[in-house]
Amino acid sequence: MKNLDVKILTKHLDDPELHTLAAYERHGGYGALRKALKGGMTPEKIHEEVKASNLRGRGGAGFPTGIKWGFLPKQTEKPVYLVINADEGEPGTFKDRLIMERNPHSLIEGCILSCFALKANHCFIYIRGELFKAIKRIEQAIEEARAKGYVGPNVLGTGFRCEIVAHPGAGAYICGEEMALIESLEGKPGQPRNKPPFPAHVGLFGCPTIVNNVETIAYVPWIVENGGQAYSDLGSDRNGGLKIWGVSGSVKRPGLWELPMGIPMRYLIEECAGGMKDGKVMKGVIPGGSSCPPMLAREIDVALDIESIKKAGSMLGTGCVTVFEEGICTVRLAQRIAHFYEHESCGQCTPCREGTGWLYRNVKRLEHGDALEGGLGLLESICNRILGNTICALGDAAAMPIQGFIQRFGDEWAAHLGAGRCPIQG
Ligand code: SF4
Repeated sequence: MKNLDVKILTKHLDDPELHTLAAYERHGGYGALRKALKGGMTPEKIHEEVKASNLRGRGGAGFPTGIKWGFLPKQTEKPVYLVINADEGEPGTFKDRLIMERNPHSLIEGCILSCFALKANHCFIYIRGELFKAIKRIEQAIEEARAKGYVGPNVLGTGFRCEIVAHPGAGAYICGEEMALIESLEGKPGQPRNKPPFPAHVGLFGCPTIVNNVETIAYVPWIVENGGQAYSDLGSDRNGGLKIWGVSGSVKRPGLWELPMGIPMRYLIEECAGGMKDGKVMKGVIPGGSSCPPMLAREIDVALDIESIKKAGSMLGTGCVTVFEEGICTVRLAQRIAHFYEHESCGQCTPCREGTGWLYRNVKRLEHGDALEGGLGLLESICNRILGNTICALGDAAAMPIQGFIQRFGDEWAAHLGAGRCPIQG
């Protein structure tokens, strides 16, 4: 296993003042910005380092960040925008919140460096509206950085202009989807646009735009300071660096830990989160937010990287694991998840708008002994009609967990049909 003692974003969390500029600088903060802008690093050089780092998007999709940046047009007369997706709303996920509340300057420094690399002069941080403390801390950090000359018309006297704006959302899960986020930022209802065109070419206000997650960009200063290869070496093959992992549910110590990409899920649950609480027995896990298909307790030796989890039949998602115990009815659990997606569907396309409702109602009927003729086959057929047939990934996010529950807990689901009621929780 890789060195588990290296920390980047959580290294100085024991300093209660870390959210202030003074404390962040005391721990070496803004050193990467000085190195880049005063030390003559070019935008291309920073981009190269990010590519070499094997940093993959930490918002759930896991796309390589350096490659994504490369999608911007080489020549454009339009302004280029950097948009930070801080609309953290995936059930079970709470890692970006930690960064914004406790270490906000790591994100601000990352934004400035990334803007420089992308030749962008404006960055918008779209923050989930319910995260009041995070919004306040990010706004304070921007003001402090502006007063010090890190943000504004002439960053560190180099002539580089970088404006950063914090923009609170209004609580819709769908605004975490990049196109819906852009629409919302433009002042319109948060409804995803069809792709293509992709935001790198037609994004915010019709201009080239890169949308990155909070955690992704917060790692950029360390990459600039130490080099992309050094960051890559901290992680596993094709999955560079560290990541903030979360565990919630039936464990002794729910929380967040910064550890290398590729650590075994068992280590995270048993060593970090202390294993199951109150003598309970693990039944399964949802690996990275509610849109990921569940896994069985016997499968938790899987390595936490994008390819390994995919091979095991699920997704890494946001890397925040939810653990559930024996005695929990997976139909009831799936009912809650299905209800969430039905509620959060923006209603724009029929397979999602109607399909998420059908899923929810049919899982609920199954749980309450009132399943329609067709049983599990009907549910599977609804999933198949949603998957791949919608404008954005919310449709898939609703269907995949239901398919996964039927695949892994099919006997339990069939027992509901046979018993005509919930045989587990009554
Ligand atoms: Fe809206 Fe759902 Fe269609 Fe996405 S998949 S655009 S959330 S209706």
